[in-house]
Amino acid sequence: SKKHKVAVVGSGNWGTTIAKVVAENVQAHSDLFEQEIQMWVYEEDYQIPKDSKHYDAGSALSTKPQKLTQLINGLHENVKYLPGIALPKNIVANPDVADTVKGSTILIFNLPHQFIGRVCDGLRGKVIPYARGISCIKGVSVSDQGCELFSESIGKKLNIYCGALSGANIANEVALEKWCETTIAYDPPAMDSKQPTPAGSPSASSADLPSLQKSESKSMKLAALPAEYPPLNHANVRTLFHRPYFHVRMVKDVAGVSLGGALKNIVALAAGFVDGLGWGDNAKSAVIRIGILEEVKFGMQFFSHTCRSETFTEESCGVADIITSCSGGRNFRCAKMAVKEGKPIGEIEERELNGQKLQGTSTAYEVHSFLKAMAMEKEFPLFEAVYNILEGNNKPEDIPKLVEAHSTDD
Ligand code: NAD
Ligand code: 13P
Repeated sequence: SKKHKVAVVGSGNWGTTIAKVVAENVQAHSDLFEQEIQMWVYEEDYQIPKDSKHYDAGSALSTKPQKLTQLINGLHENVKYLPGIALPKNIVANPDVADTVKGSTILIFNLPHQFIGRVCDGLRGKVIPYARGISCIKGVSVSDQGCELFSESIGKKLNIYCGALSGANIANEVALEKWCETTIAYDPPAMDSKQPTPAGSPSASSADLPSLQKSESKSMKLAALPAEYPPLNHANVRTLFHRPYFHVRMVKDVAGVSLGGALKNIVALAAGFVDGLGWGDNAKSAVIRIGILEEVKFGMQFFSHTCRSETFTEESCGVADIITSCSGGRNFRCAKMAVKEGKPIGEIEERELNGQKLQGTSTAYEVHSFLKAMAMEKEFPLFEAVYNILEGNNKPEDIPKLVEAHSTDD
């Protein structure tokens, strides 16, 4: 029988961390998975800083900029996006995206959402037809056609089934193997296998819900996974991601998991704005409460076929991710600094993140343009407040007035 080959498309702060997680797991489960993890790197030159433990004045690797792939493969560390974390040696950094996915049956998409469209265009016709995907991307894809999940747009572009992973998972903490939970939504057509519900997963209540993903993938004419491969059911997908420090709960609500990850980035900006004003923890908690309400409303309004409100209120990808993101996330931290220093958030992002990307700013604009097209801006005052603050139409001090509608349940 054959084994699954796993590729990770993306190698930023979270992309590299997830590559580490799955690289450890394929070693622990050599009956299911091939041992090498190919990881696509958007190639760039990188100069090792003088204060890095890898800096060696006598070595050419240190004295001039080097290809990031060469540094990752030589040092087994992503010195730019995940410095200080030793990577398993079975991760191979590859600058060629088509070569990265060649022959892989499991494709993990993990890069800032603004880049995935173009990367997928370069992958059309290059993935094996019966591959299955998991999107770890936190964002939504908004176009004239409406608001799409990345699991959907990746699936459609590559003609594969794609699920979603999202949770309260600040990458640096996961990379340091500090315990956390995550949520994986995976609901492929029945052709792949029977899916036993593993321990630790919500059971019957979610199992029988109709799924937009399922109906879409049915109309996509997916290729069946050949019988000689281990089935890609909940148990085996969980095995690929679950670690003692990274606890996975499997669900079927792909829309809820994807939207939780995307929309909390807007909420985290709002939390950063009020914290930047020095308004304290109560104000931040008010933003969190309202943020959860707007997440649920967005999911139930626009993805009603599949979305479960419990995904937002009970799973790591919902309430837990809002809390963690409003405590130590990059969107929160940069928004707070922007208010404190009176500077545009883009300037703070450039200065503070060393090439890492905020997702909340573009998501706020994308969600606004979708809500405007639907004439529903008034229904989501917190999301709209963040957009209007970024646009300069409002100030962070206006947030209480702008979210007043949430003070009454009329
Ligand atoms: P990141 O913020 O570290 O972004 C940097 C990455 O973007 C690098 O790999 C860089 O090479 C790449 N990049 C830059 N320009 C590019 C281009 N033109 N084309 C393609 N790639 C380009 O990325 P990340 O933290 O790995 O985030 C990936 C996704 O994971 C995001 O949606 C994010 O919201 C989500 N996420 C992040 C974290 C976290 O703590 N970092 C945690 C959970 C989820
Ligand atoms: P930031 O992108 O704001 O750092 O959020 C990280 C995250 O998604 C934690 O779950």
